[in-house]
Amino acid sequence: MRVGVLALQGTFIEHIDILRQLGTEAPPVRLPRELDTLDGLIIPGGESTTMLRLMDSFGLVQPIKNMARNGLPIWGTCAGMILLVKDVSNYEMETLELMNAKVRRNAFGSQVDSFEVDLEIPVVGEEPFHAVFIRAPVIEEARPSVEILSRLPDGTIVAIRQDRLLACAFHPEFTDDLRFHDYFLNMVRQELSHDPRNEVLRGSRLGS
Ligand code: GLN
Repeated sequence: MRVGVLALQGTFIEHIDILRQLGTEAPPVRLPRELDTLDGLIIPGGESTTMLRLMDSFGLVQPIKNMARNGLPIWGTCAGMILLVKDVSNYEMETLELMNAKVRRNAFGSQVDSFEVDLEIPVVGEEPFHAVFIRAPVIEEARPSVEILSRLPDGTIVAIRQDRLLACAFHPEFTDDLRFHDYFLNMVRQELSHDPRNEVLRGSRLGS
């Protein structure tokens, strides 16, 4: 299984480390041709507008959109989440427009711009998940096709899934808890096992 990590900016080294600990090949991705043989992709945390600008210069925006539409599992953490959703409520910016949700950037303001909290995330298990939020966005609106995976104690949505797309407002790559990465790898595994033609499918994702 090969899960690429977009390596233009941000927390890609941390993601790569964890994927390798979990025994997954984790190539850094900077060029469109490096998307070619992937079974999944992670868009890390960082600065979403900078990352988008770099994705644009490296010619990655359209290929990633095409691959997502053809079923490639993608997970965005923090800035990566902002790039996955259709709408950003408080900032004029483009995104990949793949998930039916609206986010608010830097939603906690400068007073509490970073914090850690134990979250209930039933899909990763009963034990609370220690989550690190850094200048984090929140999900303001999750439309019906989107499953809510976790909320802060006040009800704010902080993790969602839409079919093969996964997004969270915090940074599982900054903790030793590997369960969220494991959850994404299971999504990737499931996608691979669903289609007996996955070799063909993989090859065709870039082209269409
Ligand atoms: N505030 C950043 C943004 O809007 C996201 C921060 C992060 O990824 N930790 O892009």
